[in-house]
Amino acid sequence: MPSDWWNRLPDRLLREQETILALYEGKYPFLKSHCWRLDEAGEPRLCATLDFKEQELEVRFPPHYPDGCPSVRPVPYDTRLSSHQFVSGVLCLEIGPDNWHPDRTAADMIRSAWKLLAMETIRKVEAIEIPTRHTPDLSEEVAFGDGVLLRSAQFDEALANSSAEVEFEWAWPSRNNLRVIPTAIPKGTKLTDIPPALIREDSSFPGIIVPLKNGAPHLVPTEPEKFDEYIATHSETSLEKRLCAVLRWTDGRSCGYLHLKKNILELVNMGLSRNNQRRTPDVVEQTLTKMRVGIVGLGSLGSKVAVSLARSSVRDFVLVDRKVVTSDKVCRNEASYLDVGTPKVQAVKELIRDVCSEEPVVQTFKMNIASATSPEAHAKALQALGGCDLLVDATADADAFCLLAMVASDHGRPLVWAEVYGGGLGGMVASAQPDQDPCPRCIRAAFISESQEWPPAPRSESDTPYSGTEESPVVATDADVGYIAAAATARAIDIASGLYDGPAVTLLGLRAGWIFDEPMASRSLRVRGDDWSCARCWQTASDPDTGKLERAKALFKNTEHAQDSPST
Ligand SMILES: [Zn+2]
Repeated sequence: MPSDWWNRLPDRLLREQETILALYEGKYPFLKSHCWRLDEAGEPRLCATLDFKEQELEVRFPPHYPDGCPSVRPVPYDTRLSSHQFVSGVLCLEIGPDNWHPDRTAADMIRSAWKLLAMETIRKVEAIEIPTRHTPDLSEEVAFGDGVLLRSAQFDEALANSSAEVEFEWAWPSRNNLRVIPTAIPKGTKLTDIPPALIREDSSFPGIIVPLKNGAPHLVPTEPEKFDEYIATHSETSLEKRLCAVLRWTDGRSCGYLHLKKNILELVNMGLSRNNQRRTPDVVEQTLTKMRVGIVGLGSLGSKVAVSLARSSVRDFVLVDRKVVTSDKVCRNEASYLDVGTPKVQAVKELIRDVCSEEPVVQTFKMNIASATSPEAHAKALQALGGCDLLVDATADADAFCLLAMVASDHGRPLVWAEVYGGGLGGMVASAQPDQDPCPRCIRAAFISESQEWPPAPRSESDTPYSGTEESPVVATDADVGYIAAAATARAIDIASGLYDGPAVTLLGLRAGWIFDEPMASRSLRVRGDDWSCARCWQTASDPDTGKLERAKALFKNTEHAQDSPST
């Protein structure tokens, strides 16, 4: 059976031709000429020229015609005739894929297209509503528009309250130069409700609000000379050398324009809201915005946890990692090729800033806390970590863990640690909360003793799941890491909000194998604090011996002050 519908259904094609011929007659004959053609692939196309402006249209048929709806587009293909037109050029008509019936024909589509074009012409003279089932959404406006004006609530308010011309400042946000963002209004008064990632301190340009007189038409000419003429006629303002103008009509409507040498770009209005936390429950958000989180290890796991916490409204971070982003890490780290050559702490700091609604506080320490480094720098990092409300160990390094466990116990901070296993099997998320769980070291010891009963993990680089290091990268995809990172972030958020009362150690299996019977299996380990030998868990602070304290005090001779001396 031939695949082409017209080969299969020649009757149908003949009926199509009859209905087209009928368009030349009737009360309003609007068709000038038409012809049928086969394209290179042998698909039939109907070309029709309307009487109206001799506009040429092309009708294409889907392979499953007449069960599917044909499409109509103007020729040449880049012709824009209507606001009811898709990016491909295809017109959005009263008949579409959702209400198509095989009884309809290509002639119905052409009639509908003619009606749309006629109404678009009328609309240029008077405001009429075009009957269509399609309302152009923001994406289409941006696709057809010349650029975007990002408007914050403060800018909108200042705009609405300005009766006379007001100078403002604007900038190009990075990456996409077709966007314009007002940054200060009036000039010199910075807007405070713009996400920090969008503000570039190094560039600011003058712009002006142009209040238009009563009766200024909505249709603004986009040839520079005519645009200037429009401004001169309908306002008291002159643009002078200001590149950006926001015109304001008396009915409250406003639109931004970029005045370039050769043309005028009409900017699509787009609201800019910092209120991006509506996906985080209020109570949780309030807790997270007040917290300081310390993250040690900004590899694939740690970088994802950091950015995810920032998205969930954590605004205060202490980041510790010695390494630099290299190109081979882009496959799994949150950092991108834009960050290659940047210290990981710096790259992640920027990524955090990119998703924060207000300027975050990020302290960074370029060091490996488990390796030889300056004792004073090391102490500073540990002190900063001790000042965090929650600690995250994403190093998968036993020495780093022990140090963090010590900091967490000393300062009474919760610690979350996580690790991804090789072979895409899954990973582990663990946590210790002071006053609720045994100390982190006890939890780790219990886990190691339990896991010794298990068969060795396949494709694991080492005996125990604890000793993986970044030098021997595990075989795991970005999705594998993301799964564990998401679980670790969720654990951190739940602990921060006082909602976590589950097992200390959770093993999350992505695929069947090792200790996991099936994909997405999980195993958990509750650890009881029954190791009476652990000083952290069981030794309570007692007042020091007063006699010893006196003797210790006597060691200090206050006749001279301690000095930094290279000889000591
Ligand atoms: Zn303990």
